[in-house]
Amino acid sequence: MSRSYVAEARRRGLGRRRERIEPVIELLAAEHSDAEIALRFRSDLELLVSVMLSAQSTDVNVNKVTPALFAKYRTPEDYLAVPVEELERDIYATGFFRQKAKAIRGTMRVLIEDFDGQVPRRLEELVTLPGVARKTANVVAAELGEAQGIVVDTHVRRLAQRLGLTRHENPVKIERDLQRVVPRADWARFPHLLIWHGRRVCDARRPLCHECVLEDLCPASRLR
Ligand code: SF4
Repeated sequence: MSRSYVAEARRRGLGRRRERIEPVIELLAAEHSDAEIALRFRSDLELLVSVMLSAQSTDVNVNKVTPALFAKYRTPEDYLAVPVEELERDIYATGFFRQKAKAIRGTMRVLIEDFDGQVPRRLEELVTLPGVARKTANVVAAELGEAQGIVVDTHVRRLAQRLGLTRHENPVKIERDLQRVVPRADWARFPHLLIWHGRRVCDARRPLCHECVLEDLCPASRLR
């Protein structure tokens, strides 16, 4: 359990989570109007593969690999038409290339066999794809305009804790807490707002509280 900024918010009289969430979203949306997924893709299939490749890698790294990859592999069948070693070489720079090549090929097989070669949109279907865990499924569903959950990555976890929106460490429990307070219409953009705020302002080690638009609403602010 993390240090509870939920209790700290109460102590500082910052108001309940449900009251703070709307101004938090508005302020972040104004501050990071460019907040969106950093991966580059042009189709549902490219989105799915990009998100799978981004596990344990950076979006920048993935974006360096995918232009050539997507020019070569255009359909689920293309990923199965080459020897696995060739696919491994093509995604090598994203790290964990053996594991990822295996997951991508497994996923392509299921797409062909069970989904007519299309990327499904329901979370419960996405998680049946090999190597697609809940976080990946949430990212894909949200980008396809069908957010059914809230993506929790390292930035979302830290920010949600600091803003006193959860007292949990476990991503599933954090997601459940966020789903209770974040309006459903904001489930897709909320994680992007936290991710970009985490990158630009609320750094893990050195949060720039003196520059932060959420300072008045944040129980973790170091200015008080
Ligand atoms: S006030 Fe500080 S701790 Fe709170 S969100 Fe802003 S930068 Fe992070």
